[in-house]
Amino acid sequence: MMPGGELFEIRKVAAGVYVAIAAPAYKVNSNTVIIETDDGLLIVDTHSKPSAARAIVKALKDLTPKPVRYVINTHFHWDHWQGNEVYPAAYPNVEVITNDITREAMVRKSLKRIRDHIRSVPLEIAKLRADLTAATDPDRRAEIQSHLRQAEAYLAELEGLRPALPTMAFENTMRIFNRDREIHLLHLGRAHTEGDVFVYLPKEKLVATGDCVIGWAPFMGDGYPEDWPRTLARLEQLDFTQMLMGHGEPAGKEWLRVFRGYIADLVEAVRREAAAGATLDAVKARVPDQLAPKYEQAFSKYGTYRPWRQLVLANIERTYATVG
Ligand SMILES: [Zn+2]
Repeated sequence: MMPGGELFEIRKVAAGVYVAIAAPAYKVNSNTVIIETDDGLLIVDTHSKPSAARAIVKALKDLTPKPVRYVINTHFHWDHWQGNEVYPAAYPNVEVITNDITREAMVRKSLKRIRDHIRSVPLEIAKLRADLTAATDPDRRAEIQSHLRQAEAYLAELEGLRPALPTMAFENTMRIFNRDREIHLLHLGRAHTEGDVFVYLPKEKLVATGDCVIGWAPFMGDGYPEDWPRTLARLEQLDFTQMLMGHGEPAGKEWLRVFRGYIADLVEAVRREAAAGATLDAVKARVPDQLAPKYEQAFSKYGTYRPWRQLVLANIERTYATVG
């Protein structure tokens, strides 16, 4: 284990491959995968803000004098690419790579969402201030104060953000061959977003999954619940032993099966209820208890940080809207 500041814990997962696990935060950061090759580094995802990416760059400089040559963005979500600008500033020859679909989504959706965030975060801050005034419990007050500090710092960074879009985009597959390493960038179909990229190291039997597989219940707001299990079935065909996920601790294929099972069973349960004429409220009242025996414990590894009972309701809403 190496220091990654207070935002990350950096761990070695294979020779020359590291994962920076993001600490729980009010404004979530993605994990980063760091892959060393003979002539430079490849980084997967850049978090929600430049200061988080700068913490990684600082840790990299302690690790090796080699420059970052490639940054991969796994998808268009804010918490995976808003730190991009740090890399060309620190390493002038870096290429930022994703696939065509994700780059297009960044242009069409992310840039607008950044502007929306600049308008909505001040409302969030006002709400936190009101909550703080109303709170009396010292622990709760300390928690709100911490959230407030994080929200204010995030807003300041957003206002100064210079979004660095990918400089290269591929269609389905791109392979990077180095003397000592082979890195495959794969699009296996729609899942968490329309353009998810997996980063696969066949020799090391490692795969970075972005948010197609994470440690807790997925965010499905831009997802494709019916396609997702099929895409994960394709992922399962690859020969690997470890998944380095967008959020949460590294995991093996057992977790992929649980995670895929959850989405498949969720889709089936929601489809069955919707076909019988159930309203969204009725589905939200019934389906969590149907899924709980198989999934509640498995999806509660991170305690109250991302509680399954809350996330499953959002998952049901998205699924109901897409199958119903
Ligand atoms: Zn995401």
